[in-house]
Amino acid sequence: MAAEVLATQGVTVQVYDAMPSAGRKFLLAGRGGLNLTHSEPLEPFLRRLRPQVPALQALVRAFPPEALRAWADGLGVPTFVGSSGRVFPVDMKAAPLLRAWLHRLRAQGVGFHMRHRWLGWDVQGALRFASPAGEVSVQADAVVLALGGASWPRLGSDGVWQLVLREAGVAVAPLLPSNCGFDVSGGWTPYFVQRFAGQPFKSVAIEVDGQTRKGEFVATATGIEGSLVYAASAELRDRIAASGQALLHLDLLPDRSLERVRAEVAHPRGSRSLASHLKSRLALDGIKLALLHEVLARDDMQNADRLAGAIKALPLRLSAPRPIEEAISSAGGVRWDAMDESLMLKARPGVWCAGEMLDWEAPTGGYLLTASMASGRAAGEGVLRHLRAR
Ligand SMILES: Cc1cc2nc3c(=O)[nH]c(=O)nc-3n(C[C@H](O)[C@H](O)[C@H](O)COP(=O)(O)OP(=O)(O)OC[C@H]3O[C@@H](n4cnc5c(N)ncnc54)[C@H](O)[C@@H]3O)c2cc1C
Repeated sequence: MAAEVLATQGVTVQVYDAMPSAGRKFLLAGRGGLNLTHSEPLEPFLRRLRPQVPALQALVRAFPPEALRAWADGLGVPTFVGSSGRVFPVDMKAAPLLRAWLHRLRAQGVGFHMRHRWLGWDVQGALRFASPAGEVSVQADAVVLALGGASWPRLGSDGVWQLVLREAGVAVAPLLPSNCGFDVSGGWTPYFVQRFAGQPFKSVAIEVDGQTRKGEFVATATGIEGSLVYAASAELRDRIAASGQALLHLDLLPDRSLERVRAEVAHPRGSRSLASHLKSRLALDGIKLALLHEVLARDDMQNADRLAGAIKALPLRLSAPRPIEEAISSAGGVRWDAMDESLMLKARPGVWCAGEMLDWEAPTGGYLLTASMASGRAAGEGVLRHLRAR
């Protein structure tokens, strides 16, 4: 986006990337349909971004979701609003959009230099790259770093830049997993893993720190992951960092009241097994029933009151977030006070930063791409003002 802002204004732009081709994570995001942005009004949209810093909000205000949709439309990729309010390209694919974008950038004169890994600066202040032809150095009037976070490092963003920038005197908050899965304390039993790892919990709700969210998630070999867990991942991660573990309460039947569940559980079941009783009275079976057995003591399973309470608020203790390599995105990054309002590094004048490498996070739902792109535009405009002033 920074390259586009600059090339459109006639500035010569060269893009360097460590990978053999551009936009690998963008393409991966396309596997899930490429959730480009979200259709909710701007104010609630902005409240999803953490931390709530004015600089981050300002750049999304300057390039809000409808501007992003218009931009995609301009590349011949119309978008639509899905039932959840999320916005996707009509064809749900990333490749046509990326192809059209790269084609337009090349036509505007942007040069692409792939397999160029940025290593830092040499003593003259030139950029150092490891390339297939050996180390090369490049002088530029302005530099925009958009090196991503540290999730899915095999797609290119490995977070190694943190060391380079810290050495250059730039304050960087440690990169942490965001929108990630978690391990449950003590792990699952081998039986549960064998039978249920990979299976979804559908139509459930989780409560963390008094906030309840409805949706679905998946059991993994070591714990839980999926959209509902990702939505609470920042709170859960911070809680684990502060106190060694996090507690969430799972409502297995969010559409039924506790009274109703209690009445159904307590209903005389005659000679029927508990499993068939719960299945016929509450449609509770499969992975939900297995989880009750997994977490509750045998006595609690036989006690109608305690069983009903657990169905509505089953405590799950989490011991650790999954490693950042597996996360959808990263929290942490270049601190906001390390940059001026145009995203230029105070410790390194002439160098701007953009995208997920900045110190912010957001849930899934299109917020990540929107704010990444908006920050790219902001950095590009900062460079433009700087070059014009010179
Ligand atoms: C599985 C998955 C699905 C996702 N789905 C969505 C979605 O649907 N909607 C959404 O909004 N977000 C989604 N995201 C998140 C979104 O893709 C990222 O937030 C976004 O790509 C960040 O953009 P970026 O340009 O800041 O970083 P990146 O896209 O990570 O790009 C950084 C680039 O920098 C390069 N680089 C890094 N270090 C160096 C170096 N030293 N030298 C040279 N080059 C380097 C990398 O090769 C890479 O090309 C998803 C992420 C994942 C992992």
